[in-house]
Amino acid sequence: MITKLHEEYISLLKDPEVIKDYCSFYSSVVNWIKQKKKYFTKEIMERNRLDVLVNLDPNEYIIDEPDIVLSTVASRFESNFPDKIDNLAMLIGDTLWDMVTIYSEKDCPVCDDGLRYILAELNYGKKIVLECDTCGWCEYLDGTTWNEGVAMCIPANIKDLIEFGLL
Ligand SMILES: [Zn+2]
Repeated sequence: MITKLHEEYISLLKDPEVIKDYCSFYSSVVNWIKQKKKYFTKEIMERNRLDVLVNLDPNEYIIDEPDIVLSTVASRFESNFPDKIDNLAMLIGDTLWDMVTIYSEKDCPVCDDGLRYILAELNYGKKIVLECDTCGWCEYLDGTTWNEGVAMCIPANIKDLIEFGLL
């Protein structure tokens, strides 16, 4: 089953209409995932943050210059054949996450990867935090370690950064 799903996904990525720009790409992938609800279960969606990603408006979230070349996405997928639905979901999740997350100037104290701006939705309001997508490290803007447990987190977009005085 994963083979068929994989092939369908590859042909989506080869569609010129899909890869003509970042917004079309993002919306097309999201629509495709929504059509495949049977395979992308709630758990798989949550584990790979697809539950958050499918609800973002690409017009408001796609970053200025995503580090992804749309014409090569299909061939990258073909050479990286996922054997499980989870791996396919992870690859898709990573690709979309990279398109909507803004890097801060700080690096992760644990693994040295770049920290990205995230909007955490807490009971008392929203807060911008820095998160490492590689190891999961999360800290407040002043550098102290995140200590509020599990929270609803979505990427912070340009509008959020302006609102919080970070741009
Ligand atoms: Zn890290």
